[in-house]
Amino acid sequence: MRSRSMPTVGSYVRINSSRRAFHKGSCLREQAGTPLAQPQFLENYKQAVEFPPATCDFQTFLSQASPGQDVVLHGYLGVRSDLSKKLSFVRLQDPTMKHTIQIVSTGRNASFEQLRNLRPNSPVTVKGKVQAKKAKDAEMEKRDPWEISLEEIQLLNDFPGDIWMAPDMVHPPKHRHLQLRTSSELREALEFRARVRNVCREELEQGRPPFVEIETPLLFKSTPEGAREFLVPTRKHGLAYALPQSPQQYKQILMASGIPRYYQFARCFRDEDLRADRQPEFTQLDLEMSFATGEDVMRVVEGVIRRLWSTLMDTEAPSGPFRRLSYQDAMSRYGSDKPDTRYGMEIHRVEHLLPVDLIHKITPLTNPIVEIFKIEGNDNDPAATSEFITRFLDSPAGAPFNENPEGGPGIFVYDAKKPLCGLQPFGFQAAEYVEDLLEPDHSDLLVIQAREAAPFSGGSTPIGDLRRALHTAAVESGFKPAATGFDFLWIVDFPLFSPSSDSEPGQGGAAGLSSTHHPFTAPKSAADVDLLLTDPTKVVADHYDLVVNGVELGGGSRRIHDAAVQEFVLRDVLQMPAERLTDFSHLLDALRAGCPPHAGLALGFDRLVAVMLGKDSVRDVIAFPKTGKLGEDPMVKAPSPMTQEALGTYHLRLVDE
Ligand code: ASP
Repeated sequence: MRSRSMPTVGSYVRINSSRRAFHKGSCLREQAGTPLAQPQFLENYKQAVEFPPATCDFQTFLSQASPGQDVVLHGYLGVRSDLSKKLSFVRLQDPTMKHTIQIVSTGRNASFEQLRNLRPNSPVTVKGKVQAKKAKDAEMEKRDPWEISLEEIQLLNDFPGDIWMAPDMVHPPKHRHLQLRTSSELREALEFRARVRNVCREELEQGRPPFVEIETPLLFKSTPEGAREFLVPTRKHGLAYALPQSPQQYKQILMASGIPRYYQFARCFRDEDLRADRQPEFTQLDLEMSFATGEDVMRVVEGVIRRLWSTLMDTEAPSGPFRRLSYQDAMSRYGSDKPDTRYGMEIHRVEHLLPVDLIHKITPLTNPIVEIFKIEGNDNDPAATSEFITRFLDSPAGAPFNENPEGGPGIFVYDAKKPLCGLQPFGFQAAEYVEDLLEPDHSDLLVIQAREAAPFSGGSTPIGDLRRALHTAAVESGFKPAATGFDFLWIVDFPLFSPSSDSEPGQGGAAGLSSTHHPFTAPKSAADVDLLLTDPTKVVADHYDLVVNGVELGGGSRRIHDAAVQEFVLRDVLQMPAERLTDFSHLLDALRAGCPPHAGLALGFDRLVAVMLGKDSVRDVIAFPKTGKLGEDPMVKAPSPMTQEALGTYHLRLVDE
């Protein structure tokens, strides 16, 4: 092995001035005839090219150090304290940035002058002798028993004076590298994420038969699966790949290919509206099982969650099968298909008992549905409840509810000191019914909201959004304590199809319908298969979403494994144009080749890690996230404009907007 000795102390050179010269582009220019001098920055680099290995990592060092031991350690310099002309201290932070050790330099050796020229945060190697640290008290001595008497220090790269970096500093997104370096929380989140991945792997690979991790292509083709895709133009005239919105079609083809259980940490790409803390590229824990139904998939996923919670979380792992709630129940009881079920505030329909005057006051709709829920007040103080709700409705968070064209919310503070306890507009009978239904206490808040009398579609109702927003505001303002724990549930029995809209064109079929999950999802029962012919809007899907605390962690379904049925759904039910139908011919071919029944699911991996760590945004668990609205990476400045040359290579031409 080549020996890598430390360069002598005297070989250290300051590098800043020469580096600046390089940036100005001047240092390599020489006059004609003069031999090219070795630029200073190359000299400096040469010093750093060879550096000795550390004798141990900090953790090993801290547990095994003994006085007089010679050590070489790698790390980043801290802020130096110069105690006298002959004495300096500096802490060396290890490469993991989790441990530090004190370095002492006395004027007795040459490294002293060298250390005094180095800036905090610079990466260095340090050679020295271990000695016991003299601390102020026994406790400190125990916590930080060793120091290194410096013999040699080698600068590996300078940390320039024009970068300001301090603990807990918030850096702009374009300096993500500095943010990662300053924020131990961010680095720990990435470490945690890697552990989550390993635990998922362990659980899936121990199954019988085990899940097999298989990578599927990222250069896929455009198919109208549901989301808008990113295209990747090629040099072949007019041809483009599309990045996969999920490995859905490939994983189903794997089921037709004799792979019994597949999984993958899959990168997915969707060119969608990024409002709701979404990323244009994200990671899924994607899985699929052959000879399986949705029940089998749900059991496997519960096992993954249970193992994650029992291995990595302080709170108790969820026991038993997770609760199930149908889409209809979730929408009517919580006004959401991903309800946070921890804080009650259940919704009830009341239009059949309300006086017509009251309904007219809250909505311009004729024959609307009217729903009600209760928020418990606190301190028996109706004035505090009134203040909370007034503040909410006057705030930006309340604006969308006031401006709802179907009518704003009707607000009632239950006050035992008022006639009919503040429920006069309900009339005596309805007030009594509401009291029986909701059992309000003095100072509780009752909220009513109208909506059009139509079947549920989409992810939420206005009262469901209001329930969620009011609870968030109540927690933020201290009016209510935050809900704790994790309440996992499966939302099942979604409608197979939803009405298409401009914002959700789905598969672009002419039927005015799009698949609620994706067009490969199977009807739930034989009766639902019949409904495909008679009333597709009533078909219930074998589709399940995993929800915890108001967050959709993932979703999946049993698939249509029969080519003729799949083709019928695409062509006759969704009424996709013939040329788009051929985009799915690969899948239909695979299903036709005796594909077994199969089912699967994908967990949003970024979201899962964020939930486990209690982070509000997935950006806090992604090393290099894209910005919220525009999907940009401000650090590398992507996406970037295409040059004329690139446009030419890909046979593209920009048209004016
Ligand atoms: N491919 C689906 C998705 O990305 C998940 C699944 O059905 O397995 O949501």
